[in-house]
Amino acid sequence: SHRIMLGPLVAAIDQGTSSTRFLVFNSKTAELLSHHQVEIKQSFPKEGWVEEDPKEILQSVYECMERTCEKLTQLNIDISNIKAIGVTNQRETTLVWDKETGEPLYNAIVWLDLRTQSTVERLINKTPGRNKNHLKHKTGLPISTYFSAVKLRWLMDNVNEVHEAVVSHRAMFGTVDSWLIWCLTGGKSGGVHCTDVTNASRTMLFNIHTMDWDPELCKYFGIPMEILPRVRSSSEIYGLMKICSSRKSGALSGIPISGCLGDQSAALVGQMCFQDGQAKNTYGTGCFLLRNTGAKPVMSDHGLLTTVAYKLGRDKPACYALEGSVAIAGAVVRWLQDNLGIIGSSEELEKLAASVGTSYGCYFVPAFSGLYAPYWEPSARGIICGLTQFTNKSHLAFAALEAVCFQTREILDAMNQDSGIPLTQLQVDGGMTSNRLLMQLQADILCIPVVKPSMPETTALGAAMAAGAAEGVSVWSLNPEDLSEVTSEKFEPQINPEESEFRYARWKKAVEKSMNWET
Ligand code: ADP
Repeated sequence: SHRIMLGPLVAAIDQGTSSTRFLVFNSKTAELLSHHQVEIKQSFPKEGWVEEDPKEILQSVYECMERTCEKLTQLNIDISNIKAIGVTNQRETTLVWDKETGEPLYNAIVWLDLRTQSTVERLINKTPGRNKNHLKHKTGLPISTYFSAVKLRWLMDNVNEVHEAVVSHRAMFGTVDSWLIWCLTGGKSGGVHCTDVTNASRTMLFNIHTMDWDPELCKYFGIPMEILPRVRSSSEIYGLMKICSSRKSGALSGIPISGCLGDQSAALVGQMCFQDGQAKNTYGTGCFLLRNTGAKPVMSDHGLLTTVAYKLGRDKPACYALEGSVAIAGAVVRWLQDNLGIIGSSEELEKLAASVGTSYGCYFVPAFSGLYAPYWEPSARGIICGLTQFTNKSHLAFAALEAVCFQTREILDAMNQDSGIPLTQLQVDGGMTSNRLLMQLQADILCIPVVKPSMPETTALGAAMAAGAAEGVSVWSLNPEDLSEVTSEKFEPQINPEESEFRYARWKKAVEKSMNWET
């Protein structure tokens, strides 16, 4: 029966910070037909350093594709129905590889890595007025450890293999999208070296007005332009899948890769925030609130980033977004699990926190990677305050969830101030949204309803939609008339606003301490 209902299928590779997924959707209904997910190891070789293995990332993609194909076959679904594949990825994470051997020259430096703090200080010191917003008019971004250019600078300065490969014209730079597309389209034998405008806009080498690499920015960071990938739109054919026929995923060979979006942009598309003013918040490793500002880049006065939201076709206009980025959201859950051992899995957190239903005056600022929006303070460090003899691990668990909500409130406030039009509800997605206590707390702390779609894989859906669009396969959700069919769950605020304000004011005090604890 399935067979008769099926239209063309669209697929997505979703390569996130904590896991990789491959997902296949029915384009007629946007139904998720099959998927597979593999966790990614993160290594912390020194304090503040976060790395991942580029080969493990690639292997995880192959594994997810193979297992998904097997599941489709079991469901009696013909793999040749897949018409297009999209890529969506953790942004800013920086890789350099050798184009002749195809080998990575160092681990991937993950976006929330702090090793470039001294590189950033050095750059800011040589900048007129020591202004961290010196490049903002071109990039929409402050000079920070977060973006790829400083990570690439660090690799060229500190890793001999990278330095030598650059000098001998063998180096290729890319974010995870570029690495995957290059490998999947043939790698050292003819792979396509490209990225899309959304990923490019997070490097600090990209001019968001001209929509191209900027020679002045490259000069500022001392980056040779020849190592950069070609910048393309988010929806066009970049190349065809070329997978060795000995692999079980070989059946995907020849399918066009025709969509590419940074994960936060993909979620914006997957949540169908196509109108100026529409916004979504994604709760993954970090937390990212993006608001569509239409055809114009809006510069923030309140510590938000200006970024390219999407450009869905070579001849289509670019859309921009204001973004509030929070480095640590789900990462705090992983920390409670791996470093403190107070939970055995992320699912246990909800039960533990719900058992007390309050932090009992305990506030937890998880500034492990400094503070991102709206502060951009790399020297901030995590603090837990308000402890008493009474405090236990359940209160700490609750305070960790509350921290995610307070951080979202800070960026939502900044967004409302920048746009002058307050959001009346918040669309959400991401791995952490399966935590219902978190969703209720978020509504309580924002004093507006929180709305969660019943199909949680909006990031992957966005990438699959972009890929389908380039191949003439429109996914139903692109049609606004179908929007009413999207089912969702709504969390209404339940505490009174005074209570909410009181807790938020306390949180702000704790944040101040996290920024000044050394002085
Ligand atoms: P990413 O795209 O950054 O890899 P995901 O959207 O896959 O992230 O979400 C994974 C994150 O969500 C992890 O950091 C995990 O700890 C957190 N998470 C997953 N389930 C829960 C839960 N039930 N409660 C709290 N956090 C959760």
